[in-house]
Amino acid sequence: MSKSPTSRLLKPVIAKLVTILPIPEDHKDPLASTAQFCHAALGSISPEKAGEHKLPIEKYPPYFDWCPEYDFISTSRRISRLLGLPQQQSDDAAQLVISELGSNRIGLNKAQLFLDPTFENIRDAHLGFLLKGLPFEEGRYKPTTATMAIASKVIPKPDTSWASRLGLMSKQPSTHFNGNVLEIVARSKCYVWSFPPAKLSETTTASMDIFDGWVGSGGEYDRNRASLGMGFVIIAEPWGSKDPATGKAHDQYNFYVPHWLYDERYAKLRPDSDGWRVGNILDKSIYEGWPNGTKLKWHLHGGIRSLPQIKSCLKCSSLYIERANALPGMPVTCKCHVAAMVAAKAAASTAYDMGYRAGLNASDGSAI
Ligand SMILES: [Zn+2]
Repeated sequence: MSKSPTSRLLKPVIAKLVTILPIPEDHKDPLASTAQFCHAALGSISPEKAGEHKLPIEKYPPYFDWCPEYDFISTSRRISRLLGLPQQQSDDAAQLVISELGSNRIGLNKAQLFLDPTFENIRDAHLGFLLKGLPFEEGRYKPTTATMAIASKVIPKPDTSWASRLGLMSKQPSTHFNGNVLEIVARSKCYVWSFPPAKLSETTTASMDIFDGWVGSGGEYDRNRASLGMGFVIIAEPWGSKDPATGKAHDQYNFYVPHWLYDERYAKLRPDSDGWRVGNILDKSIYEGWPNGTKLKWHLHGGIRSLPQIKSCLKCSSLYIERANALPGMPVTCKCHVAAMVAAKAAASTAYDMGYRAGLNASDGSAI
């Protein structure tokens, strides 16, 4: 077995499953087959496909509101095919695989699959494949995640462009931290971390992916609600402070983590919108230097200065980065600057037209 991060993550799960699954004694390679069952359940198809596409399989932290969605049907079929078991025994074994993955909080990060441009070529096909693994009831798929609710067209897709995500974040008034995000970014050096690890509890809501649907009396979903991480966090340059109890110095990193909220009732009240708005911007901190505390460098090896710096303009309420191409599609200047450039271009073109016309008139005059 290769030593990819995914196979390291699955190793203890596979080690346990080979001891509890009804694998025949003469089976050629129990570990390899069990890895196949895990990938069938995760929706990453196979260890080979997961490695080829670098699919984001993650261990979610405890206490995180997380909805695992596993592919029971594919798991049972693969168990039946590779172990030669009858249906009921394969179903029972599939349930064991899913319970083990669930209790270890291991899942496919579908929020990243949905948002990350590196998956652009495989996204639609893969989400379509995942859809077939969902339970099908009363003529429709029954999703429990926002991404699958979007893929199954139960709810609309949010505008995933950087301009839209940052625009929503900058409009959000702040109630629980010192100023809104525009003011925080204007005040201190801040950076954008795109697709931070879901296993880090301070950044995990960037991968939030939850759908709650109710079936109304007419058989239609009429109270759909979904929460979806926006796939990024803003981190402020750390500031040093002292633990009042021990007097020990530490660096405090503050994170601002936005996520979308979809609410069908809100969407119906605002038919001109797609129904998605900011659900919350969570404010989290890492105190680097505290005994037994998390160190950011464990998760972000290059440190925050390896990330693109984000800027804000309080005049036009824009967020943007100055490093072109650091994050494809990210605005690299504020709206005032764009407006000034458009105005300068228009003025130059008017001046050119006037000069051109004056030249024509002069040549007309000289021709007479
Ligand atoms: Zn501006």
